[in-house]
Amino acid sequence: MKRIAWDQFFMAQSHLISTRSTCTRLMVGATIVRDKRMIASGYNGSIAGGDHCTEKGCFVVEGHCIRTIHAEMNALLQCAKFGASTDQAELYVTHFPCVACCKSIIQAGIKTVYYAKDYKNHPYAIQLFEQAGVEVKKVPFDHEILNEDSLSKQMTMDTIKAAVEAENLPDETSTRLLESIQSKLI
Ligand SMILES: [Zn+2]
Ligand SMILES: [Zn+2]
Repeated sequence: MKRIAWDQFFMAQSHLISTRSTCTRLMVGATIVRDKRMIASGYNGSIAGGDHCTEKGCFVVEGHCIRTIHAEMNALLQCAKFGASTDQAELYVTHFPCVACCKSIIQAGIKTVYYAKDYKNHPYAIQLFEQAGVEVKKVPFDHEILNEDSLSKQMTMDTIKAAVEAENLPDETSTRLLESIQSKLI
């Protein structure tokens, strides 16, 4: 059985938490991971108990909504609140971090940032990450991995493939057989 890769798994988590966002301008989700364990996650939203952009509209000052705390900051603050070390941890985020979050991420000791989508990637943030030795990797999120139908088809195909290969048929026959099965499955 083919299992989902770790980077896609944590990126899926960040996309899932982004659906809790209360700012209509952009829905962002972030997950902090240490030793393949999720230690915190966050989405962009108002402070606890505050007004939500979804109800009161965004509070825009100089082109930015200042009502919300960014997803990356919320994830880091969750660690601060509940006492989990972020040193040498990894951060998975749906969008490239802004300059303010970039500085907090570096200062919190995060060693790797995985992001799914480019978003106004600021040259200063890129420069700061580089100088701090924080590795930044783009991991586009494949939404298909959450599609149970396509997952089960993939698993069926893997099983059939293993069975056909075990028969030690001539290569040409195996290929033809697998192609024919695959076309019927889709
Ligand atoms: Zn807003
Ligand atoms: Zn930010």
